[in-house]
Amino acid sequence: MTGKLYVLSGPSGVGKGTLREKALTDKQNLVYSISCTTRQPREGETDGIEYRFITHEKFQEWIEQDLFLEYAHVHSDFYGTLKEDVIKELNNGKNVLLEIDVQGALKVREKIPEAILIFVAPPSVEVLEKRLRDRHTESENSLKLRLSNAVKELELKNKYDYVVINDNLEIASKELKNLIE
Ligand code: 5GP
Repeated sequence: MTGKLYVLSGPSGVGKGTLREKALTDKQNLVYSISCTTRQPREGETDGIEYRFITHEKFQEWIEQDLFLEYAHVHSDFYGTLKEDVIKELNNGKNVLLEIDVQGALKVREKIPEAILIFVAPPSVEVLEKRLRDRHTESENSLKLRLSNAVKELELKNKYDYVVINDNLEIASKELKNLIE
């Protein structure tokens, strides 16, 4: 493997998606690995762009066929990274960016110890809650679940190589880009 593997994690609503998109612009040698999920697409999401949206049956089948580099049950659905996608790109010398949850990131580290783990943290849990509410993508139950998971995820940030605090988007984005240079 010649490319580098970057793993980005952080609680729901912290701004990982925006930071990831910014990191991908101008970086011709960096590719994003599209995850598979059993969750329903949100409005505006397209199969094969944000995620590969697959059924629980297919997900189970792919687990049994050992196709995932890692997978996890996050919030109330399954999410996973296909092994082949990542390994092929790394072998072609591309740097690969994964945006996955904490459980998944730690599994990747076990399998690929050279992976570089970056955690995006909010300035506070209160700010995170406000951002999630302002996003209007979640029901109250889903929001509560995401917030309680956020607290657990934040406890694991010390296991990461780097922590980027997303208080100001421009500053956080610069920090992330520098880490990926
Ligand atoms: P969302 O439903 O908001 O798109 O994502 C929920 C969570 O699942 C986020 O924390 C996201 O990083 C995580 N996630 C997305 N893809 C994967 C994946 O392939 N593996 C794992 N373990 N987590 C993922």
